[in-house]
Amino acid sequence: MKSAAQYPGGDGPPAKANILIVDDRPDKRLVLQAILEDLQQNVVSANSGEEALKCVLQDDFAVILLDVNMPGLDGLETAALIRSRKKSAHVPIIFITADYADEIHSAKGYSLGAVDYIVSPVVPEILRTKVKVFVDLYLLSEQVRRQAREHMALADERAARTAAEVANRRSAFLAQASGAVGSLDVRSNARELVQVMVPFLADVAAVAVPAREGFEPCIEIAWGDGTGVAEPVELKQFESKWLSDTVERVMATREPHTINGAALRDLLRGFDGPMSVNPLGVPEHFAVQALALVPMCAGERSVGVLLLGMGSTRRRFEADGLELAKEVAGRAATAFENARLYRKIQDEDQRKNEFLAMLAHELRNPLAPISNAIHVLDSEKPDAERIAWARDVVRRQVKQLVRLVDDLLDVSRITRGKIQLRIENVDVERVITAAVETSRPFIDALEHQVNISLPEHPLHVRGDSARVAQVLANLITNAAKYTEKGGRIDISAARQGPDVVFRVRDNGVGIPKEALATIFELFAQVDNTLDRSRGGLGIGLTLVRRLVEMQGGTVQAYSAGKNQGSEFTVRLPAAETERTTVAEDVLHFAHPSMTGVKVLIVDDNHDVAESTAMLLRMVGCEVQVAFDGAVALQSLDKLRPDAVLLDIGLPGMSGYEVAAQIRAHPDHAKTLLVAVSGYGQDDHRQQSKRAGFDYHMVKPIDPAMMTDLLASIPASRPVAH
Ligand code: ADP
Repeated sequence: MKSAAQYPGGDGPPAKANILIVDDRPDKRLVLQAILEDLQQNVVSANSGEEALKCVLQDDFAVILLDVNMPGLDGLETAALIRSRKKSAHVPIIFITADYADEIHSAKGYSLGAVDYIVSPVVPEILRTKVKVFVDLYLLSEQVRRQAREHMALADERAARTAAEVANRRSAFLAQASGAVGSLDVRSNARELVQVMVPFLADVAAVAVPAREGFEPCIEIAWGDGTGVAEPVELKQFESKWLSDTVERVMATREPHTINGAALRDLLRGFDGPMSVNPLGVPEHFAVQALALVPMCAGERSVGVLLLGMGSTRRRFEADGLELAKEVAGRAATAFENARLYRKIQDEDQRKNEFLAMLAHELRNPLAPISNAIHVLDSEKPDAERIAWARDVVRRQVKQLVRLVDDLLDVSRITRGKIQLRIENVDVERVITAAVETSRPFIDALEHQVNISLPEHPLHVRGDSARVAQVLANLITNAAKYTEKGGRIDISAARQGPDVVFRVRDNGVGIPKEALATIFELFAQVDNTLDRSRGGLGIGLTLVRRLVEMQGGTVQAYSAGKNQGSEFTVRLPAAETERTTVAEDVLHFAHPSMTGVKVLIVDDNHDVAESTAMLLRMVGCEVQVAFDGAVALQSLDKLRPDAVLLDIGLPGMSGYEVAAQIRAHPDHAKTLLVAVSGYGQDDHRQQSKRAGFDYHMVKPIDPAMMTDLLASIPASRPVAH
């Protein structure tokens, strides 16, 4: 027998039930214990109501035998407290009482939860029998509880094992799928991937990648009939319209899509030709029962669709399988996207290398004729005809070099977002004329015929006149370059809705279909072998597109193919009013005689200073030259120039400082000050303005513009920056 203190607690299920005897008298406790010993359970005894409460807190009891008459807490109070605790609220209580007539009998005991009572002195048989009923009940329910617990533990373990197996299979599958798309070639990735999918996820698997920027269209299909997986089949194109439409739709919605049973059969009935059996083109006996289309998305881009079909195994698509398919599709899309970017970088790198070779070639080309011209000029007594020839050669070649360098600088400025546009209303006829003039040397050299057709009413676009002219000149020059001698170039402009559409068409070498998509890319050339080069770096069309887009327009290229001519269309927003700006009018200012206009040229480059002086003297100006700021300032009072052409990058005192000093002098406050600088960005122009300059010109100065400007003295100063 054990006392309450001796009774061992523990988590394990009790093989025996606990019986609690509560009595203040040790002799009665002993008697009760002796009677109950036969039941072979754990009998625990407590000598007061308080101790009994401690016992029920620690352990579960099958039944409690409670003496009604105890000092301190009596039996009825103890019963009330036992009932009030959740843990012991339902433990059966048998009161031991000396008298039938006490409160037990008056039903108070029952209301406190007594299940029975026994009159003392107890009859051993009766006590044992009554207690045994509760002990058996307790042991039975304990057994049921234990079995339930064991069942649950078993079920939990089984579920955990299955989940672990599923997770293992899933991660092994994902690892295999990731491995399948590990190469940098989309087609072979697709081929490997479909083989991994069958039969784990489906009976038929296809990867469909439609033609997109940087992707060749491809469909790879694999299927299995339960005995193995057939070699994948490759379809070069989307033969079924249903398939291509569905693929496009799934790519656009970016949501998986499943088709089962009757819906699929209805759909498949509609097919004819080689796709009559099913949309995946697998063998006739292979009836697809269910189809799932999962978009392959990498970030914002949809690159294709993973198609899964169930056939011979009659499986259905479950949520788990589709989740896994989505995961695989996502991983494959990322791999495909990487492959595309890798190829793009490789292409760009190759184009850059070709560009560098071409650049060296193009920069060296003009040097030979220039050095020949210098030889001629150096020879003893060159005659006038030879001098004129040499001058022509140098002028042409320098123009070509300036064009190349300007284009290069423009590309780099646009790339760095450094180009500022001056948007105004641009007269379409004038801008076409200016562009044709720029391209004239190329047109004349190959004796092309140029036709310009314009509507009767004047047209205007919103744009930067110089940049619109540059765009058109680029296209016209290309038309001239890529057309055999004696060709025809048609240039037109017409209003179309809110736009003006410019067209430049030639009957030249044309552009192969596959090149049309890439010719606007930097350094892209259709035929870039040096010996076939027609003088260019593959940056003209890049500039065209970027400049047009900066002005809110679009440009497109068309060609029916090799030797079929080409047509470029530029679409720019039309200007609603037909007023041109003052700046444009000034550029077209007529030349009055410039005789007597006094000009001071300040430049530390002697050649530049002297040659500019010579030019201006030829048109009648009175010119003086200074090679630094100090000398320039000294000569001011004597010459009293109408205009000063002032280089910014002077040694010692900079052009800005010289300008500020000139402006500070009251006699020269009205002198026309022109900054001549290697930099043309907005901030440089602003700096010139702050230093007191009236104009800012970028080197090399266009002689025509300079004479235009000087011819405008004194009437229209200052005009524009
Ligand atoms: P490039 O300096 O080589 O002329 P562009 O960027 O101006 O560079 O043009 C890119 C390529 O597009 C050219 O190399 C040429 O192959 C092709 N191209 C451009 N315009 C025409 C045209 N009018 N006819 C045929 N091919 C053209």
